[in-house]
Amino acid sequence: MTMPGPVIHWFRRDLRLADNPALTAAGQNGAPVILLYVHDDISAVDWTAGAASNWFLHHSLENLNRDLLPYGNRIVFRKGSAVNVIRDLAVETKASTVFFTRCYEPWAAEEEKILAHELKASGIAARRFGGNLLFEPESLKTGSQQPFKVYTPFYKAGLKQLQTEGIRPRPEKLPAPANLPSSDDLRSWNLCPTKPDWSTGLAENWQPGEQGADAALENFIEEHLNRYSSDRDRPGIKGTSRLSPHLHFGEITPRSCWQRTLSKCVIENGFPSQGAEVFLKELIWREFSHHLLHHTPDLPSRPFRQKFSEFPWRKDEDQLVAWQRGLTGYPLVDAGMRELWHSGWMHNRVRMITASFLIKHLLIDWRQGQKWFWDTLVDADLANNAASWQWVAGCGADAAPYFRIFNPVLQGEKFDPDGVYIKRWVPELGNLPAKYIHAPWLGPENVLKQAGVTLGKDYPRPIVDHAAARNRALAALKSL
Ligand code: FAD
Repeated sequence: MTMPGPVIHWFRRDLRLADNPALTAAGQNGAPVILLYVHDDISAVDWTAGAASNWFLHHSLENLNRDLLPYGNRIVFRKGSAVNVIRDLAVETKASTVFFTRCYEPWAAEEEKILAHELKASGIAARRFGGNLLFEPESLKTGSQQPFKVYTPFYKAGLKQLQTEGIRPRPEKLPAPANLPSSDDLRSWNLCPTKPDWSTGLAENWQPGEQGADAALENFIEEHLNRYSSDRDRPGIKGTSRLSPHLHFGEITPRSCWQRTLSKCVIENGFPSQGAEVFLKELIWREFSHHLLHHTPDLPSRPFRQKFSEFPWRKDEDQLVAWQRGLTGYPLVDAGMRELWHSGWMHNRVRMITASFLIKHLLIDWRQGQKWFWDTLVDADLANNAASWQWVAGCGADAAPYFRIFNPVLQGEKFDPDGVYIKRWVPELGNLPAKYIHAPWLGPENVLKQAGVTLGKDYPRPIVDHAAARNRALAALKSL
């Protein structure tokens, strides 16, 4: 009896074994399965992954490969244009079918179309599956058959469609072909920094891979879920799930998060606890961002609301660098930017405050901030990042109005009242009393001296005055 030709499962951002419809289908096919990952830093053009994201990817792939050991299979790593690599490998191995999970970035969607076309020309089938979102972007439409532009109706329409049953376990079998195609050594891709190795902060904070994702969800549900609605705004405590990079790389699905949250949360009067409800709504914000990107592919480069195209942005390299390095003189802003640099992540409330500061206090184009976040976040995600930056800038769909300008001092007093978060990330202010930690320039000389802080030497004076910056931002808006 001749062995059937193999099939290929092309791993993309579905770096998991469980609840992976494409992988399950590949395994059920009965043929040997070639598990392929292509490092394609060509197709993304302006949006090749940043260094923090690459570090996460490396470890996620390494752990996925380890999880495949019991199947007697492993990942074939190849580099190049995904379409060319897959087509050539499929032809070389006489594969009958290529299975893959859908991605939503404009270049990825284009790549899928070209791949399907190229494979068809060689008599090879392409089978695309969903799985990384709760709803496919085409499946939700307004009453007039248009894409949604407002979150709440999108959320309501989504709930009506939501299907979280039938989550698949890990595939039973993923038989390897007798001769595994050659593979690059993952380490040769240099996704991790070496000279210097600045990734210690990332390693301290993250456990990439499916097991790390499961553990993060489990810990969140057991320890934090029921207080999520209040704790999620407190950057000084761990009140959120920290699932974002795991969701981005598809190490866990939103369906699993949804189902496990509902199965374990406290039910009050027949409804999930407030914490669970708010958390599930955040998962739908992720869906909404992907919906927006799918229907507006230029979301990362153009304001959703046209009138903002004429916004009079300033160019100020020194202030941009001060923001990036956490040296603005506003402690909450600086704490956030340093948390980002050190750990590859920033608390959501502080993301909003730091983004608002760049856009409104410094009048620097939101796209500059978006790029910096893209380069430094482990969870850098085109849809979430673009939609969120546009949300803060007031130019996005269902965005915060531009004239709502965060006061970083008041935000600090409200959400980090004792300065726990600030002291963690801006240690030079560690001895300042809470009363002055959010605005050290208001501290009496003797208090600053006692805390060992000389402004302008140990810690910068504010690079802009809040009231003046606010007025300037409002005037810029008026000029539109
Ligand atoms: P939780 O509060 O536990 O939320 C659970 C999940 O819901 C998150 O993991 C995330 O997948 C999703 N989610 C939560 N808030 C949002 C939101 N506002 N929009 C879309 N999805 C959301 N998130 C990214 O995943 N990647 C990004 O590149 C990104 N860039 C951002 C840039 C700015 C300026 C802002 C204001 C927000 C950005 N966010 C981004 C959204 C949000 O800050 C993060 O998803 C969240 O902080 C991740 O932490 P968590 O997993 O603990 O979130």
